[in-house]
Formats: sequence, C-alpha cells, structure tokens
Amino acid sequence: MAKENDYDYMRRELDKLDAAGNLRRLPHLEHDGRFVTADGRRMLNLSSNDYLGLATDKELRSEFLGRLTPEAFVPSSSSSRLLTGNCPIYEELEAELARLYGREAALVLNCGYHANTGILPAVADADTLILADKLVHASLIDGLKLGTARYLRYRHNDMKHLERMLHEYAPTRKRTVIVTESIFSMDGDEAPLRQLVELKKRYPGTLLYVDEAHAFGVRGRRGLGCAEEQGVTADIDFLMGTFGKAAGSEGAFVVCSRTVREWLVNRVRPFIFTTALPPVNLAWTLFILRRLVKMDKRRKRLAELSTRLHRALHEWGVPDLSSSHIVPLVVGESAETVLKAEALQRHGFYVLPVRPPTVPEGTSRLRLSLRADMTDEEMESLIQHLKDL
Ligand SMILES: *Cc1c(COP(=O)(O)O)cnc(C)c1O
Repeated sequence: MAKENDYDYMRRELDKLDAAGNLRRLPHLEHDGRFVTADGRRMLNLSSNDYLGLATDKELRSEFLGRLTPEAFVPSSSSSRLLTGNCPIYEELEAELARLYGREAALVLNCGYHANTGILPAVADADTLILADKLVHASLIDGLKLGTARYLRYRHNDMKHLERMLHEYAPTRKRTVIVTESIFSMDGDEAPLRQLVELKKRYPGTLLYVDEAHAFGVRGRRGLGCAEEQGVTADIDFLMGTFGKAAGSEGAFVVCSRTVREWLVNRVRPFIFTTALPPVNLAWTLFILRRLVKMDKRRKRLAELSTRLHRALHEWGVPDLSSSHIVPLVVGESAETVLKAEALQRHGFYVLPVRPPTVPEGTSRLRLSLRADMTDEEMESLIQHLKDL
C-alpha cells in the first residue's frame, strides 16, 4: 500500500482551514508606539491589549531605565522559584498585591495561561464539580480539561441556569468551583460578580474563581478590576489577573487566602516546573503597579472613548452587548469578516477578524480594543469608517 507523505494530513487540514477563511498566519509587523506597520501600511493598533498605552509609553520606560543599575538588571531567574529562582522582588510584588486587594496573600505566576491551566487542576479533584461560564477563555477551558474534576458549562452570564446547576449538583459533591471572567475577552460584556458572590454564599462548599485579565488596570478606583468596582474583592476565592494587558508587562497573579497560596505553591504544576520570571521584569511590573493605582485619568479617558463608540453603535441600531473597551462587531461568516477588517486597515485602523475556533462558528467578528491614548479625531474617523463598512 502506498504510504502518503508524513505531513500530507496536515497539509489537507490546512487547505481546508484556508478554504473556510480560518487559516491563521503570523503577521509581519513593525511597531512604532501606538502604530503598527504591515504590508507598508501604518495603522493605529486597535488589536492589542495595551488599553492604557503603558506598554508604549516612552516616558515610563525612560524613568524606569534611569533608575536601573547593572545590579538590578537581572535578565534571568535561572531556576524555578522553589529552587533558586525566588528573590526579594517577587515577595515585594506579592506583598504589594495582597496589600492593595486587602487580602492575606498573592502569588505571581509566569502568565495567565499558566495560572488558568495550573490552578484549576490543583484545586479541583475528583470530588469537585466545576461550573464554568460557556464563554470562558481557552486557557480556562484547558484548565478544565487538564484536571480530574467533572465540569459543566452554564449559559453565558445566565445566573438562573447556574443556580439550577448548583441546586441540583452541589449537594452531591464535596465542593463546587464557579469559574468566570469579569470582562469577557471576546464579547466585552461583564459577569455579575455580586450575584455570583451571593450564589456562592447560598451554597456552602462553593468557591469562586474570577479571571480579571481584561479588567485589571482598567476598572475600579485604583484599577484593581471589576471586583474592586463592585466591592467584592474579599469574597472571591481565586481573583486572578494578568500583567500582559493593561499593565504593559508580563506575568499573572492570583490573590487569595494564605492557605490557598501555600496549596498552590505545592500543587500548581506550571508554577513548580518552570523557570521563574526574570527579576528585571518583576521590577518593571512593580514599577508600573505603583503608578497604575493612580492612573484614573487614563481609566476615565478609556471609559469616555468606549461610551462614545457604544453610543454610535446604538444610534445605528447595531447589536452591541459589550459594556467595556472591548467592542466586538459580529459579522457572521469568516470570509466577509476578513474583508471588513481589511477595509478598516486600508483606512489606517489595525483591526483584526476573530474567527472560529476562538469564537463559535458563524459568529466571526471584528474585535476593537480601544486604547486610552486615542485622540478624539481618531475616534471620530473610526466611527465614520465603521458606519461606511
Ligand atoms: C490573555 C488572557 C489570558 C492569558 O494571559 P497571558 O498572561 O497572556 O497568558 C487568560 N485569561 C484571559 C481571559 C485572557 O484574555
């Protein structure tokens, strides 16, 4: 029997993806602050998660570099934290996070993907049931799949559905963990955290896990996220956030009780079996964090710009479920979505199509990530071009 070439099956699948408009390619990009250049075209970057413009802020960088000494510039931890990778700056950063959130402890991990894929399997054993929102991020889904706990998905933000599940299943399990994002990454809408906290309290043995990746830095008086905004930071068992988005750095954290932290240090595999973050990166994160809490001007600006865009969509009668700076415009078919994204790019806005499997089949969309450093003119021009799409 003629054997086919070893990689033919991959080629066939890739061709299928391409035909459906779902093939992903790494874009060749050059960066210049808020702008990116691709295919010789310079565009305002509305696809990054640099919501406050901190990752591209040259003044902040200069200030940081001005204080940096060769001793402080340590580019590698050279080891896992449990071996020799721990250092005072880790502890300083964690103490600062715990203090800001008014909680006993915080643990820093290398990234949000590690946090979500590591913490869920560590805290949920075979006696646990996980109830996760239907639209949680891929990293949380991978966390569900990697663990031994049974899991069910409740309809997106549907508290009645969640309560029915709690009512039916919680009494049969040792513990239940509710998993949600605060601002949803692809839809830009928000979980009702207060209601989730109420439900958790009504069903003893229930823990609450909230991923604030898109809200940390952006929401709340000091930028601590939706939990701060809704006054529930004390009631969330695992409040997770990332530094790679609004905070303009890299890494992730979870604030929790002292017992939970100790458990995580002993059980989270992507914490134990990986090289710790570079100290220079932790120093930058801490430098940013201390300023971030006072950046309410940037947060206000982002909120204003978001309101302006939502209002325009509302006026045109475009369905808009988002209540945040992440604004999806659902187009439907992937091919058409790609064409619309290209049209916006021709007008100088780097907007990308989001396609399956990132979003459900038939809901391909343009996803706009607004940024606080957009000018009024840029916003007006964006609105005009969206209208003409
Ligand atoms: C980006 C993102 C993550 C992953 O965080 P990284 O630090 O980039 O690994 C996790 N959860 C959500 C909701 C995200 O949007």
